[in-house]
Amino acid sequence: MQKKSGVQSPCRVAAECGGCKWIHKPYQEQLALKEKWVGELMQPFCKIEPIVGMENPMYYRNKVHAVFGEDRRHNIISGIYEEGTHNIVPVDSCMIENQKSDAIIVSVRELLKSFKIRPYNEDTGYGLLRHVLIRTGYFTGQIMVVLVLGSPVMPSKNNFVKALLKLHPEITTIVVNVNNRNTSMILGDKEQVIYGKGYIEDELCGKTFRISPKSFYQVNPVQTQKLYGKALELAALTGKETVVDAYCGTGTIGLIASDKAGKVIGVELNQDAVKDARINAKRNNVNNIQFYQNDAGKFLVEMASQEAKVDVVLMDPPRAGSDEAFLGSVVKIGPEKIVYISCNPETLVRDLGYLKKKGYQVKKAVPVDMFPYTDLKHVEMVCLIEKPCSVQ
Ligand code: SAH
Repeated sequence: MQKKSGVQSPCRVAAECGGCKWIHKPYQEQLALKEKWVGELMQPFCKIEPIVGMENPMYYRNKVHAVFGEDRRHNIISGIYEEGTHNIVPVDSCMIENQKSDAIIVSVRELLKSFKIRPYNEDTGYGLLRHVLIRTGYFTGQIMVVLVLGSPVMPSKNNFVKALLKLHPEITTIVVNVNNRNTSMILGDKEQVIYGKGYIEDELCGKTFRISPKSFYQVNPVQTQKLYGKALELAALTGKETVVDAYCGTGTIGLIASDKAGKVIGVELNQDAVKDARINAKRNNVNNIQFYQNDAGKFLVEMASQEAKVDVVLMDPPRAGSDEAFLGSVVKIGPEKIVYISCNPETLVRDLGYLKKKGYQVKKAVPVDMFPYTDLKHVEMVCLIEKPCSVQ
């Protein structure tokens, strides 16, 4: 236990890691500060609802990564990069990561010795294991282990799999990913499934979603379910509407909305995410959804020029927010409702400013805490924006 200003820190490496800036703040205080910050930002638009926090704000991350290396005495270590460097800080457990994932990482490290597998050395290029990435399905309990290697050949692969499964029979799939480039990206392009299906599934709001090693999937499943639930509640669909799910990723929000919509049109830039979205639609037997791979702005400009009729736009852009091509086309198409899910309140208010100028009104805004203990600005927002009757 490390002491900082007289307070016991629940984490030994908080200072070097830098991930949890709020490690010393009681959770209720974190929520109050986030609510105050977002409330002030949103002041020109509407009064916000109380922030939706977590009941148990620890061990929430369903995606856990460890980098492997050696200390000065050539002992194998695993952990995180010290903030802003490539020095490895050894970590065995983290208070915001899934605990089983942390335990599996420790087991992998202990097995390396008996299998005579060396960790990869970034400077010399010698050694094999670079990273371990673990993704878990919160509601299904499925676990995927991704072993990221510096070269494609893993000696005694089958025995390694057997030994790891003996220690952790709950693992459902193991994938080898090869990353032989000098890069700060964790995953390389080549993949080989060495146990199980090569992906896991998780459930959200009654639908099942496939998660592959590289799929985008929200990292806090408990709060994601609340966030999407809120978005759907605000959209108040009746079963007839034409809905656009923009920046749809692997189709999560659109698929959850599909039961209550006439039809859903999903648009997403990333080709792999669109592939996953189509698989997710099939997996859930959803037939009233279509996914398009395109820039959301370009796609909406096209829709507007064809005078498409859309009742509700659900949008969940990345941190940079949306753009005028998209928002201008939304205004032109003129849906009754826009439900804007944002992971960055600062770009959200910029975009809301644009919509307000065009006559749209923000009716409701709900902050949801997705990343307890990390930092002030890590808060998501879901907003209901409506077209007043007077707007043509
Ligand atoms: N709604 C999804 C994904 C949200 S993350 C979910 O909750 O899981 C934002 C998504 O926007 C990412 O999948 C990213 O690939 C996509 N994106 C980023 N820029 C885009 C653009 N210009 N047009 C369409 N999609 C874009």
